[in-house]
Amino acid sequence: MRLQRLLALALSLAVFLFLAWAPFPALAETKLPVVATFSILADFARQVGGDKVEVKELVGPNGDVHVYEPTPADAKNLGAAKLIVVNGLHLEGWMARLIAASGAKAPVVVATEGIIPRQGVIEGATGIDPHAWQSVANARIYIGNILAGLIAADPADADYFRARAKTYDTALDATEQEVRAAVAAIPPQRRKIITTHDAFGYFGAAYGFEFIAPVGFSTESEPSARDIARLIAQIRREHAPAVFLENISDPRLMQRIAKESGAKIGGELYSDSLSPPNGPAATYIDMMKHNIIALKKALAPNS
Ligand SMILES: [Zn+2]
Repeated sequence: MRLQRLLALALSLAVFLFLAWAPFPALAETKLPVVATFSILADFARQVGGDKVEVKELVGPNGDVHVYEPTPADAKNLGAAKLIVVNGLHLEGWMARLIAASGAKAPVVVATEGIIPRQGVIEGATGIDPHAWQSVANARIYIGNILAGLIAADPADADYFRARAKTYDTALDATEQEVRAAVAAIPPQRRKIITTHDAFGYFGAAYGFEFIAPVGFSTESEPSARDIARLIAQIRREHAPAVFLENISDPRLMQRIAKESGAKIGGELYSDSLSPPNGPAATYIDMMKHNIIALKKALAPNS
C-alpha cells in the first residue's frame, strides 16, 4: 500500500516535471525582435530572418509611409526592438523623432546604404527620390544591408541568415528576368508610366520607362490645376495609352486625368506599400510581378 502511494506520488511528480519542462524548448528559442518602418522592408527582413526573427512594421499594408503619424504602440515596439530597419533617403521624416521619443537603443540598418540615389526636379527644386526599392537590383542591395544588420544583432544565426539571403537573392534575380521579359513585349514608345505620385523613377530608369506623375516624390504635396492641365496636354500629345492608380493614393485624381485626357485606366500599381496577405501584392516579389503584369496588359498590344 505504501509502495503504491509512493509510486503514485512519483508518477504525479514525473507528470508535473514534464509539464513544467515541456514549454522550455519553445521559450529557449526567443526570436529577435525587429521593427521595420513599412511593409516592403518588413517583408525583406522576414525573407532573410525566417523563423529566427519577429518582425513588426510601423506602416502596414496599403499604408502611406510619407505622411505616417506614429502611435504610442510604435514607440513601445521600437523600445523593445533589437534591430531597426529604415529605408533612408529622407523617406521616413518622422522616424528620428520617434526613435528619440521611444528611447530605442537598437542599431538602425539604413537599407538603401550603397545605392546610387536618383535626383529629380520638383517644382524647380532638386530632391532625392526615396523609392529605390522599385528597382530589383536595388532590392538586392537592401537585402545585403539587412543581412549584415541581422548577423550583427544575432551572430549565432549568421549561417541561417546567409543561406536564406542567398535563396532570396536567387528569387530576386528570377524576378528581375521576368520584369525584363515583360518590358521587352511593350513597344518602346508605349513605355510610359503615368501615376499619382513620383514613385516609379528607379523602376523607369532600370527598365526603360518614362515616368510622369502630377504629385512629387512625397504624397504630401497636392498638384496645382496648372500641373494637372499640363499633364493632360502631355498625355494627349504623346498618345500615352494608359494612366495607373496607386494602392496608397486616392484614385480620384487619376480618374479625372484619364477622363479628360482620353487615356484608359491601366489598373492599380503597388508603389510604397504591399497589399494585405490575401491581396495580389503580399510580398515584394508578388508586388513587382503584379505591377509588371498590369503594365504589360495596359501597354503591350495583344496582351
Ligand atoms: Zn512614395
